[in-house]
Amino acid sequence: MNYHKYYPVDVVNGPGTRCTLFVAGCEHQCRGCYNKSTWPVDSGFLFTQALEDQIIADLQDKAIRRQGLSLSGGDPLHPRNIEAILKLVKRVKAECNDKDIWLWTGYELTDLNDAQRAILPYIDVLIDGKFVQELANPSLVWRGSSNQIIHRFK
Ligand code: SF4
Repeated sequence: MNYHKYYPVDVVNGPGTRCTLFVAGCEHQCRGCYNKSTWPVDSGFLFTQALEDQIIADLQDKAIRRQGLSLSGGDPLHPRNIEAILKLVKRVKAECNDKDIWLWTGYELTDLNDAQRAILPYIDVLIDGKFVQELANPSLVWRGSSNQIIHRFK
């Protein structure tokens, strides 16, 4: 998996103070996408074991308490990202079990394949659906357009 940005302390992408990872790779090509540079799966930088370890350490950091981890992009559920994301979310739940995980995807929950669905038991909130410019509304919280749904699993 490749990624574009990692913010160890973030108060914008999800509730509370969080760690946020923007991964590379998206096949949805939404008109009005704010993050087109993330579309190619090979763009950005390699997501290394060292960065995975850093995310775990940041989530465990007691000096700046994080509420959880936000996964966005790009699309964390792009087929090329599944393996690395599954490994990461499993590890967060095992080693940082008081932290929540929010994940943004352009796929719709009902259309996820088995590999993508394998990630769902480890995340707390899924915000799904493409960004639809005609349905965009800046007053929406945690989503860009009104077709997108916030699914709370926990
Ligand atoms: S799903 Fe997100 S990153 Fe992908 S094209 Fe749509 S708005 Fe852009």
